[in-house]
Amino acid sequence: MTHSCSIIDGKKIAQEIRASLKKQISDMAARPVLAVISVGDDEASRIYVRNKEKAAAEIGMECRSLHFSNTVAEKELLEVIEALNKNESVNGIIIQQPLPCHLKTACLVEAVMPCKDVDGFGPVNLGLLQMNSPEAVIAATPKGVLRLIKSTQVELAGKHAVIIGRSNIVGKPMASLLLNQDCTVTVAHSKTIDLPALVRQADIVVAACGCEKLVKGDWVKDGAVLIDVGINRGSDGRLCGDIDFEALAGRDVWITPVPGGVGPMTVAMLLENTWRAYKNQKNIL
Ligand code: NAD
Repeated sequence: MTHSCSIIDGKKIAQEIRASLKKQISDMAARPVLAVISVGDDEASRIYVRNKEKAAAEIGMECRSLHFSNTVAEKELLEVIEALNKNESVNGIIIQQPLPCHLKTACLVEAVMPCKDVDGFGPVNLGLLQMNSPEAVIAATPKGVLRLIKSTQVELAGKHAVIIGRSNIVGKPMASLLLNQDCTVTVAHSKTIDLPALVRQADIVVAACGCEKLVKGDWVKDGAVLIDVGINRGSDGRLCGDIDFEALAGRDVWITPVPGGVGPMTVAMLLENTWRAYKNQKNIL
């Protein structure tokens, strides 16, 4: 397929970040440690956890996987989190989502101490992000999206960014991040009226709704930066995003592919957050 618009190569940028982390970690006497708590037998979660373990190992970071059965009690998980919070050899803690319905995700996420919350999903880090504090641990996917947007060198101040999706882990933190970059931000969601009209005004589009090829070629204005967070199994059985990538071939736009765009950046940003947590905990500048 020919595609002469500008592709933002997330795979390559993520690789460069991982190589830089690997080099920095190799100078350390003790390895950074990321603890991953997972529950149940969700197939996608298993793949995500395996990818994180592999990526961590490749850069010399230790990934301790703690897996629990579908019937685990919330109290037991809270005790595990408390022990990890106290364990000085553990630098980052993440709770793989989704969790089974009997567990209160917010309650568990909140139990992770903010300096080890390397997913940035806890209320303290979300609040710090809202306040544009440099102390905030920023959720990996939105953080990676911002890096991808910045890689285009497009000026952000004053630009209209339309974010499609308002989840706590992507859409909402993304809105705060882009506001902090002086963009004018519109957050669209499933109840938004006339999404095509909004997208037509956008200089930047972050699509994170999980709807196969929702954003059509004729919704997009020339010169736009298009970041596709969505991961969908298309009707042809192949992975595709929330933006109709093929329809934008030959157009004057920047775009991320799926796969090979946001996905690799999410993993790289999680590793970067864990590395930063390690340095903060050890007072390394
Ligand atoms: P979610 O299901 O929690 O939220 C989806 C959001 O999209 C909701 O706010 C909903 O209101 C909105 N939405 C749904 N249909 C819409 C429509 N027709 N028009 C406008 N808005 C609509 O999802 P999420 O966790 O934020 O993830 C979104 C997508 O991004 C999914 O495909 C997910 O797999 C993917 N994802 C990818 C990565 C990555 O690393 N690449 C990370 C996280 C999520």
